[in-house]
Amino acid sequence: MGTAASPFLHPIAAELEAVGAKPTAKVLSRRARQRRQIQAMIATSYIVDSLVLLLYAHAGTIPDTIGPAFAACGFASIAFYLVLSETGFTERFHDHYFVAPQLIVSVAIMLAFTYIAPEAGVMFLSTLFVVFNFGSLRSTPRQTALVWTATALGLAALFLLTDKPISMPHGSYLERVATMSVFVLTLGRCMFLGIFSSSMRRSLYANGLKLREAYRRIEELAELDELTGSFNRRCIMRMLDDEITRAHTVNTPCSIALIDLDWFKRINDAYGHPTGDEVLRTFAITVFANIRGIDRFGRYGGEEFLLVLPDTPNEAGARILDRLRAIIADLDWSAFSPGLRVTISAGVATLAPDETSDTFLARADSALYAAKARGRNRIASALS
Ligand code: GH3
Ligand code: MG
Ligand code: MG
Repeated sequence: MGTAASPFLHPIAAELEAVGAKPTAKVLSRRARQRRQIQAMIATSYIVDSLVLLLYAHAGTIPDTIGPAFAACGFASIAFYLVLSETGFTERFHDHYFVAPQLIVSVAIMLAFTYIAPEAGVMFLSTLFVVFNFGSLRSTPRQTALVWTATALGLAALFLLTDKPISMPHGSYLERVATMSVFVLTLGRCMFLGIFSSSMRRSLYANGLKLREAYRRIEELAELDELTGSFNRRCIMRMLDDEITRAHTVNTPCSIALIDLDWFKRINDAYGHPTGDEVLRTFAITVFANIRGIDRFGRYGGEEFLLVLPDTPNEAGARILDRLRAIIADLDWSAFSPGLRVTISAGVATLAPDETSDTFLARADSALYAAKARGRNRIASALS
């Protein structure tokens, strides 16, 4: 049974409700549909019980009027509830399925008919099992305890304060058939509810997995730059701060590089903005393919990127960057557009004792400026 066919439950909607989101028209109409489905299930149950009562009446156990009267009470309660549901009244309550009130009404009907027709008591009392089983699908522990207490008091009054001959008829063959039907049908309905609740659990589990995947994706999107797939500025800056703290704490060297694409404006002007975007993407992929797992690479802004190199002293950092520079310069960029050439410049800096990210970045930026001034397609190291 899929989610759409599962009354009571829609985990993602429940999640939204939990955070206080107002239900949309679509959610409201789905809930109304589910409430109708639940009422159809309850109506079926009343019909089944009424047929058994007709059997008892036929056997002469109870008056003929009991079956129709029982069905009438059941349908009246369903009609009353449907009016509340269809007018949107139940939506005002957290428990918009009205589980607890419906349980109480059903229990009251069963106890009242046990009083009126105690000769067929076994049927009404057996149906209490179905009612409780049904309620357990959505009741809170508090609601269940409340309804159980009310039922226990009702049963105590029925058994201890009256001397009604509450019976399990088995005198004639027809009575035995009817009583057997009571048990078979009660068990059948309990089994149906068991299957129903296990399919609900399965769909809840499946939806939970989907929800977790969606959260993961949202988290990922919140951290990544849309165009290049590298970390976005907020994220790479946080990573830089974390790495600075770690380097100061464990006293390891940490280098960074500010990387800027050379003459990028000219590339955009000559080959078009979409080609410029492709260049940025390819540059990022190439960097990712050539850095270590511990390195962190993010877009600092426009065509400028920040590479964080943990556990890396200055010479090693400059070497890594020069290798990246050579790889970018040697790529066959003409595949994007004939004549296209792309180079990068970078300023490398290594963390000084007690240095903050501001001065660290400022030194890398000065080094980048020096690399540009010296003619581009080169790496410059910052003074410490
Ligand atoms: P320099 O070698 O001095 O860095 O020259 P430059 O042309 O690269 O420098 P400048 O800062 O003047 O130009 C950067 C250009 O990068 C300007 C801007 O339009 C372009 N740019 C920034 N972000 C994007 C982007 O997401 N896509 C594209 N296609 N272009 C971008
Ligand atoms: Mg540039
Ligand atoms: Mg720039």
